Amino acid sequence: MAEVEKLIVSRKATLREAMSRLEQAGLGILLLVSDEGGLDRTVTDGDIRRLILAGHGLDETLGALPEAKCITAPVGATRRAALELMNRHGISHLPLIDADGRVTELLLRRDIDEQVLLSTPHIGDAEREFVEQAFLTNWIAPLGPNVDAFETELCAFVGSAHGAAVSSGTAAIHLGLRLLGVGPGDRVFCSTLTFAASANPIVYQGAEPVFIDSEASSWNMCPRALERAFSTAASEGWRPKAVIVVNLYGQSADMDPILDLCAAYGVPVLEDAAESLGATYKGRQSGTFGRIGVFSFNGNKIITTSGGGMLVSDDEEIVARARFLATQARDPAPHYQHSEIGYNYRMSNILAGVGRGQLRVLESRVATRRGVFERYREGLADTGLLEWMPEPDWSFSNRWLTTAAVSPDAAFGSGEIIRRLAGELIEARPVWKPMHLQPVFAGTRYFTAGNSSVSDDLFERGICLPSGSNMSEEQLDRVISTLKSLLR
Ligand SMILES: *Cc1c(COP(=O)(O)O)cnc(C)c1O
Repeated sequence: MAEVEKLIVSRKATLREAMSRLEQAGLGILLLVSDEGGLDRTVTDGDIRRLILAGHGLDETLGALPEAKCITAPVGATRRAALELMNRHGISHLPLIDADGRVTELLLRRDIDEQVLLSTPHIGDAEREFVEQAFLTNWIAPLGPNVDAFETELCAFVGSAHGAAVSSGTAAIHLGLRLLGVGPGDRVFCSTLTFAASANPIVYQGAEPVFIDSEASSWNMCPRALERAFSTAASEGWRPKAVIVVNLYGQSADMDPILDLCAAYGVPVLEDAAESLGATYKGRQSGTFGRIGVFSFNGNKIITTSGGGMLVSDDEEIVARARFLATQARDPAPHYQHSEIGYNYRMSNILAGVGRGQLRVLESRVATRRGVFERYREGLADTGLLEWMPEPDWSFSNRWLTTAAVSPDAAFGSGEIIRRLAGELIEARPVWKPMHLQPVFAGTRYFTAGNSSVSDDLFERGICLPSGSNMSEEQLDRVISTLKSLLR
């Protein structure tokens, strides 16, 4: 934003004066105002050049300038509206005009066109080397030494015995359910507050999801709601084939009571740790608690291979079967022979190279995302209008996304805040829409702990703020100050 006074000239100014003002202000534009103080038109270097070429002398005045329509916006226009106006008219400056026609501000494209996104890939220094190595050795696809090393290195980091790198987190969940024996007619318990990719593979397998509510203290699967689901199922004479426990927004679920319940009912757990790589539960790495753990390296996750996933397990047989099914289930025969239906789900050697580089910066990414959360928490503390996703004492969250529930006392609800942030080119998102509310899962069963649904309330009031590990201090300040003005 430019200081307006320095740019204002009247028609009495000479061309020489105008040129010297243009030179000082350095923006290539002046604001010509009438005697009443309203904006008459803008004056650019080009306007003066045309006057001189038409034979006007440097000591003549701007009175020679013709009337010109000038593009302006009202005070309070959003960044998005201002930018759209600039784009439509091919201009890079936009005067904001008050009710009296006076200029209050001159918006410059370079100051306002920056979009703050929710979570963008953040590549380190080592990725390129691993990828180049793959090119140099012609290990392009599929599989190769980067895949093996990525599996070994990720497993060493999280403390899992075995891992299979695959094409996506969704593919890993699908393989995991198949390996747990989930098939047509089975039922699978699954956290309701999650991304659809947690639950869709249940349907791929011809099974039926049953959704479980969250607890307010962690936003993750509520052990009491799970207990109700188990006991209700037992009283009806059935048992789920598996339980998918999701670790939301980078925070582990309360694993001990959940694992105890699942062990008591003899049902295996698939841990959807797509969002929680690098987080811990009671000091142990997220993703290592279930019979099977799943990570995602999608572009928006805490580390990325542009797209990819990993299935981990301490059970060597499970991971070997996952690799087999993920490579088209080819029997060990000299010819192409298949005794089972397989998938093309393996990760390529090139993408695994990106993953190896990303793994080296994972801990620093976690620290940065936690720092982003702290900045928001401190910067917005005095409003008292955001209830941050809690971090129980057993949890060390990777704070993949900074999330909060908007207090009912705030000036706007979460939906309106998200809409208005978008107007300022800031991408915020609602909290995941619970699966039991999704049209595609209409009619599926849903268990809460008590009479009210925690996930419904979190969906109603929740907001995810831009949380990328590559956000600048200025971007964070911009989000905080914009949000402040929308909360009060
Ligand atoms: C991202 C995500 C997935 C799916 O991972 P992809 O790699 O995108 O297929 C599954 N579950 C949750 C909770 C996720 O956030």
